Amino acid sequence: MTPKETNILELSKRCPKKMKNGPCGSSSNGRCEVGGLCVWTEIYHQLKKAGNISILDNVLGAEKYGYSPYSDKKAPSFMDTKGFIVTTELDPPKGTNLSKIKTFLKNIHDISAINVVDNPLGKPLMSPLLPCFYITKHNITPIYQITCRDRNIAAIQSDIFAAYASGIRDILVLTGDYVTRNTKPVYDIDSTILAYLIKTKLPEGQDFTGEKTDTKIIMNVGIAVNPNAEPLDMELTAFRKKMQFADFAQTQAIFDPDILDRFSRETNHHDKTLIGILPITSYKMAEAISKVPGISIPDAFIEEIRQDKNAGIKRAKELIAQAKTLGFKGVHLMTFTDHKLLSKLMKSV
Ligand code: SF4
Repeated sequence: MTPKETNILELSKRCPKKMKNGPCGSSSNGRCEVGGLCVWTEIYHQLKKAGNISILDNVLGAEKYGYSPYSDKKAPSFMDTKGFIVTTELDPPKGTNLSKIKTFLKNIHDISAINVVDNPLGKPLMSPLLPCFYITKHNITPIYQITCRDRNIAAIQSDIFAAYASGIRDILVLTGDYVTRNTKPVYDIDSTILAYLIKTKLPEGQDFTGEKTDTKIIMNVGIAVNPNAEPLDMELTAFRKKMQFADFAQTQAIFDPDILDRFSRETNHHDKTLIGILPITSYKMAEAISKVPGISIPDAFIEEIRQDKNAGIKRAKELIAQAKTLGFKGVHLMTFTDHKLLSKLMKSV
């Protein structure tokens, strides 16, 4: 570890999510979503001034697990499908009733994979493991979302073992929204370190600490990137690092065609990236979503939705077409387990 890396790790201790490898994607113009200034904006500006940005290409904070080479072993993946692909997502039940998931699966078509979300906004839902397993029985690929917020590193590994044994091969690693109401966030590791450990240790038949496992666990790892982030170059520096070993990326929801254009110009991972699209169906929804950290909705677009409730769907369809034209691998449609809304959008794919 170089003195500069040690300095970054020291500064990053002030980050509420303990991010060691770049920003969490929720800062807005240098402000932290939790309050005060974003530590990572400060780190980034310091390194930029000193001409040391390349130091961020290394995975920091993983040294206690022992650095290992990235494995290029991959499981068969929904990303291998030729042509433009579509993924969507579903919420597990708040309780035990799987009927909404059953109805959803019965009514969707031409979807390559389905993310099962992990306690969005820190609100406890059923673990994504069971719905993911259930999805495998419907011949659709589940993407198991796992956040570093709710489990310590031992629990994360236990769940990954269970996921693999259940036939789940795709995992989206996330840091998780910062939530403290009725709970205490863990953040033992950040999502970059988690992705790195899944791609280095597990395929070699080791757990994260190097102890032998009874199976070589080969999973495809997805990561998240936020094209709305400001400054974007800081976000893209972290994105480049993660794409050294990640198999696919899904973006935060984009609402602005200019933001999608800018992201396309500034990145070269089109073949591994799915653009996040969230159809807004009401003015109330637009107002609520515009307050979510890391999301950017132009005021003019919110006004358009106020005057025409179909403007959100229209914009989503335009963004799907734009993602296709720009050469991205596909789109990730965030339709809140609403198969009718999903079908409307699928018509334009
Ligand atoms: S915005 Fe995110 S990365 Fe920045 S200090 Fe806050 S939690 Fe950390």
